[in-house]
Amino acid sequence: MGGSPLRNDLARIPTYAPSALEGITLDLRDNVNLWGMPPAALEALRSVGEDVGRDYPNVSAGALTTELARQLAVAPENIVAGCGSDDVIDACLRAVGAAGARVAHGDPSFSMVPVFARLNRLEPVGVPLRPDGAMDVDGLLATGAPFIYVCSPNNPTGTVTPRAELLRLFDQAPGMVLLDEAYCDFTDAHDLRTEAARRENVLVTRTFSKGWGMAGLRLGYGVGGARLVAAVTKARGPYKVNALAERAGLAALRSDADWVARVVRETVEARTRLGAALSGRAGVRVWKSEGNFVFLEVAERAADVAERFRQRGIGVRAFSGLTGIGEALRIGMAPWPELQRVADAAAEIWP
Ligand SMILES: *Cc1c(COP(=O)(O)O)cnc(C)c1O
Repeated sequence: MGGSPLRNDLARIPTYAPSALEGITLDLRDNVNLWGMPPAALEALRSVGEDVGRDYPNVSAGALTTELARQLAVAPENIVAGCGSDDVIDACLRAVGAAGARVAHGDPSFSMVPVFARLNRLEPVGVPLRPDGAMDVDGLLATGAPFIYVCSPNNPTGTVTPRAELLRLFDQAPGMVLLDEAYCDFTDAHDLRTEAARRENVLVTRTFSKGWGMAGLRLGYGVGGARLVAAVTKARGPYKVNALAERAGLAALRSDADWVARVVRETVEARTRLGAALSGRAGVRVWKSEGNFVFLEVAERAADVAERFRQRGIGVRAFSGLTGIGEALRIGMAPWPELQRVADAAAEIWP
């Protein structure tokens, strides 16, 4: 009698399945860029010929990585692109970890990391954030884990880990460090991409899904030492960046930096303005976020509060039972005229 052919640990690993929300006219759940797509990238998509679908893309997004390398003044061998930075994180876990090895990560942080770790037969170990929301570098080091994941600004809290602490982590880690800079377009706190290229144990990941407005195209990359990048590239596999994503990403890198800079400026202004509108309300604590979202600790059940926003046509992300925090909401940014709806809804929800 044959048993199930599936891995017996698979049932314990959650499937990422965001719930459909009824009646939403302003969806702020995913931190995407609600200013739209950068214009040169959009034009690149509109002007494609049939070769874009007929031919395989470049095996490893060669034109894109070459342009990125030029802009960062590193070698193309220091960059690995993927189907979203998710793909790069997943491949890095696969490239580095011996089966069963531990992956230490901040808690709470990017929810996909423990999932990718388990899918790659690694063992995630959460280390609570410091009270100020920064990664606890000493706590992460104390695990002795051969793979450490840190995210700064962190998702979902928006908190930054100081540059000097991240460098100390790079220096003292017994193995690999992956620094996720997905939200670094929205802060001046650090940009450790070129630093990572000079080391053999660090990969810094970035995405086109947030500030660069291309979540639907699935494009991200990592920067690190050439040997590490070669290993991640091997573990990732060929053709993961599709032809549309590469063309749009390349056009954006060449021509859309000003558009991104303007949108980032407006995002930061909106973050400050919404943060001010929400703070001081009873049962709400606004964290200092440096991402393209605000993060609120709430006294009531987060799902109940999110439902009240939903009744007003607004989608926000609810978190329950976060380590050291409890109930919380994450609200993405949008151009202010739309975001005023959130401020108005908040005034009704928390009068
Ligand atoms: C959104 C996000 C990413 C980006 O993922 P993509 O696969 O590039 O869309 C990566 N890390 C964190 C923490 C994020 O919030």
